[in-house]
Amino acid sequence: MSAASNGAGGNGGKKFLMTTSWDDGHPLDFRIAELLRKCGLTGTFYVPPSSQRQVMTAAQVRELSGTFEIGAHTLDHVRIDRVPDAEASRQLLGSRRWVEETTGKKCSAFCFPGGKFNGRQLRLVREAGFRAARTVELLSIEEPRCVSGLWIIPTTIHAFPHGRLTYAKNAVKRMKGSHLLSLPAALFAKDWVALAMEMLIRTSERGGVFHLWGHSWEIEEEKQWKKLELLLGTIGAWREKWKGVTNGRNEHGSFTRCGETKSRR
Ligand SMILES: [Zn+2]
Repeated sequence: MSAASNGAGGNGGKKFLMTTSWDDGHPLDFRIAELLRKCGLTGTFYVPPSSQRQVMTAAQVRELSGTFEIGAHTLDHVRIDRVPDAEASRQLLGSRRWVEETTGKKCSAFCFPGGKFNGRQLRLVREAGFRAARTVELLSIEEPRCVSGLWIIPTTIHAFPHGRLTYAKNAVKRMKGSHLLSLPAALFAKDWVALAMEMLIRTSERGGVFHLWGHSWEIEEEKQWKKLELLLGTIGAWREKWKGVTNGRNEHGSFTRCGETKSRR
C-alpha cells in the first residue's frame, strides 16, 4: 500500500481527516452534493423535516442519503435552548426517528439549530439516542471531544464572509490554545476562502480534522458559490493527503458511545 493511499493520509504519519457538514436541508443542498462528489469529498447533511425556509422532500432526503450521511436538526428547526425540556426532547427524539425512517439508516449525529446549548441540552441530546453533536465552534482542527456522554464536534471554517470580530469573539469565548493560535490568520486573511486555505495547510502540517460547514441557502444569498467551488477544488486536489469522514463516523467507523472504550474495529 503506498503512503498516499494508506487511509490515514499520505502525510508523514500525521492523521489528516476531512469532513464537511451542511445545515437546514434546503433543496440547494443538491448543488453542494454535486460539488462534493466532483471533488471526492464526503460529509453530513443536517436536515429538519420542516423549517422556516424551504426544505427537501422526504424522497429527496432519501436520495441524498444514498451517497451522504444525514444528521438530525430537530423536527421544526427549533432552538432547543429556547423551549421547555419536554418540547426539546420531542424535537430531538422525533428528528432522529424521522431521519432513520426516511433513510433506513441509523442516525447518530445531531446539530443544534442556532448553535447555542448548555449542559442540560447536551443531556437531552444524549438521552434522545445521539452519540455526537456538531457545534458552531470555529477555527478548530481538533478531533471531537467527549463531554457529558456526547462527542462534541467543532468546526474549522464556515462558508460565509464573517467579519473579523466574529472570529475574535469565537476564539475568546472558547479561550483555547488552538483557537487563539488560529486567530491571527483569521484577522489577516483576505476572505474566508483564504483563511480556509491557511487552515488547510495547518491541518496538513500538524494533523487533525479539517471541518468545513455551511448552508446552501446562505451561499446562494451571499453569492459564494464560485468561492466554495474554488475551495472544494483545492481540497479535492489534495485528496491523497487526507482521509474523508462523515460527522457520525471517524476513520475507524461509527463513533463508540462517548466515554466507553471498545475495540476500534
Ligand atoms: Zn439550522
